[in-house]
Amino acid sequence: MILSAKFITSAPKFTYELLSSHSQVAFLGRSNVGKSSLINALCKQKQLAKSSSVPGKTQLINFFEVLCKKEEKFSLIFVDLPGFGYAKVSKNLKEIWNKNLDEFLKLQTSIKLFVHLIDCRHFDLDIDTEVDIYLKSFLREDQEILKVFTKIDKLNQSQKAKLKKLYPDSLFVSNSKKIGLEILEKTIIDKALGL
Ligand code: GDP
Repeated sequence: MILSAKFITSAPKFTYELLSSHSQVAFLGRSNVGKSSLINALCKQKQLAKSSSVPGKTQLINFFEVLCKKEEKFSLIFVDLPGFGYAKVSKNLKEIWNKNLDEFLKLQTSIKLFVHLIDCRHFDLDIDTEVDIYLKSFLREDQEILKVFTKIDKLNQSQKAKLKKLYPDSLFVSNSKKIGLEILEKTIIDKALGL
């Protein structure tokens, strides 16, 4: 379980100091997917992650040290990546995810898990498919992608069943209704530890 978390630093791009002996978990998703709310809920804090995503604003990568417990206490690093996919911005992923971010993701080898957040109401957008293909294009053997559908409170039972059938390995969460948060927390910890 997650005991507590604290902000460490923000960075615009990769530097070797950002690599750590702690396993890292990167959170990514379209702007407004519910990423900040979810990171705050997982870390049991209200203001840790902030919705930063204003188009044109400098996009920073935020790092949090997260104290966890599973038999023993240990730390993970949560990496909060800039939101992507403004409707009015070019669909070309390379233009949205600038060179710095691309370099960061490829060199930040401490990342053991990519948590790809997807709004359950818009589960098959091209941009999310492109992100999935992109991540898989450089994914190492010791890294995994976890698809997490957010705002699941917005779907009825049959819509949820349909989505589960399409993505059996994914997790469903709602921060508003506090659904799926415990299993997400456990899954993140286990996968970050390579269990
Ligand atoms: P971010 O831009 O991805 O960091 O998204 P935020 O965490 O700021 O959330 C974006 C919007 O979605 C806010 O208005 C939240 O209140 C709303 N939101 C976040 N989580 C949920 C959820 O589980 N269910 C619903 N219905 N809305 C949510």
